[in-house]
Amino acid sequence: MPQLSRRAFAAALPLGLLGGSLLGGATIEGASALAATQVTAKSPVSVTPLAQIRIGRFTVTALTDGYADMPYDYFPGRTGAEVEQAAISQFTARQTGVRFLFNQYLVEDGERRILIDVGAAGSIGQTGQLPDALNALGLRRDQIDAVIVTHMHQDHMGGLILGGKNNFPKAELYIDRRDVTHWTDPAKRSGAPDYLQTSFKMAEEVVRLYPKLQAIDGEREIVPGVSIVDLTGHTPGHIGVRVEDGGQSLIMVSDMIFPVVHPGATDVFFLFEQDPTAAKAMRDRFFPRAASEGALIAATHMPFPGLGHIVADRGQMRWEVADWALQD
Ligand SMILES: [Zn+2]
Repeated sequence: MPQLSRRAFAAALPLGLLGGSLLGGATIEGASALAATQVTAKSPVSVTPLAQIRIGRFTVTALTDGYADMPYDYFPGRTGAEVEQAAISQFTARQTGVRFLFNQYLVEDGERRILIDVGAAGSIGQTGQLPDALNALGLRRDQIDAVIVTHMHQDHMGGLILGGKNNFPKAELYIDRRDVTHWTDPAKRSGAPDYLQTSFKMAEEVVRLYPKLQAIDGEREIVPGVSIVDLTGHTPGHIGVRVEDGGQSLIMVSDMIFPVVHPGATDVFFLFEQDPTAAKAMRDRFFPRAASEGALIAATHMPFPGLGHIVADRGQMRWEVADWALQD
């Protein structure tokens, strides 16, 4: 059973970041240090959420590019009314749908910085906050050594090409070959529905702007302790990332789990899933496995910071939020 290490957020910040410029002069101590609130120039109530845990020698920081509310009828397998009812019963119903966060994860081992996913970058909902989140950590995008994109949907790769530029010029870029092939195939693009066209367009741009793109063929290590897990289903080359050291581990599962509907059922989908049979097959395999392993999971669209466990509770799967900051 992986354990979260005891690590208050402030303890992991470079000292220079604890000054008044970042935190508006607020005093950081004890529990108040568990989340950073960066008052930005845009709005006095705007904050930059950050959450940090240790996995062995790795520091993993959850960042978020923002959020969008997905209409209740975007979940094939259930009616809009059923999804709304489920959201109401979980006290998470929003006026216009199910709130999806867009979480990214920065993995650092003291030498390298690896970013898992880069967000929607304003292409959907209230997004585009990842650069601010990196700034809050004192990082520029050219200080990222590698980016792993879990699949080529716009909400996971948009930040690569914001403004028509290569935004991570020093980074190695890793994407599963099956997704690169699928999302750059003109025949697949012309047969796809409107709501997937942005992803096809972005994929073409990513391939053009990132000559260092390394297509991944199967499960492999990216650096020691950081490896690719095949989670095909949501898209053909949908992957997860396992971070493992010193008997602790975390698996970033991207879009294996959506809020409100998962992991309680596997026969409910998200609109963007073109192959529901494959998506269901992977969730049918993965949810029980994650529950029996007690795997600590990071999930893109779950409420920030997206950390939790899949728990089998009298035969019913449910999501249990991880106590990400206060465990010994
Ligand atoms: Zn997604």
